[in-house]
Amino acid sequence: MVVKSQRICGRGAYAYWKPGQITRFAKELGKPRGRMFFAGEHTAVTNRGMEGAMESGERAALEIGEKL
Ligand SMILES: Cc1cc2nc3c(=O)[nH]c(=O)nc-3n(C[C@H](O)[C@H](O)[C@H](O)COP(=O)(O)OP(=O)(O)OC[C@H]3O[C@@H](n4cnc5c(N)ncnc54)[C@H](O)[C@@H]3O)c2cc1C
Repeated sequence: MVVKSQRICGRGAYAYWKPGQITRFAKELGKPRGRMFFAGEHTAVTNRGMEGAMESGERAALEIGEKL
């Protein structure tokens, strides 16, 4: 058996929200803080998994582009 941390191409994970956490935290997770920008599936709004990861990457790239 190959554990997740030993697989070069298999380290992805996905957010698993507890009840109430989306309401409390979701809007804040992807917000830029100064010159720091955040991407990652856990910051996606409309998708989970790989689609969410790509959505968040596009959003973060656009946010950075707006600052240039
Ligand atoms: C077993 C399993 C099966 C899955 N199956 C599917 C599926 O069928 N379809 C689907 O859509 N989604 C699936 N997913 C979910 C999908 O893989 C993830 O949602 C997606 O990979 C998340 O992408 P991410 O870029 O947010 O994070 P990640 O892919 O986790 O990328 C984060 C990266 O940051 C790196 N990192 C972490 N800490 C640091 C640090 N301090 N410095 C530098 N780098 C760091 C990590 O090594 C990793 O490469 C699956 C997930 C798992 C675990």
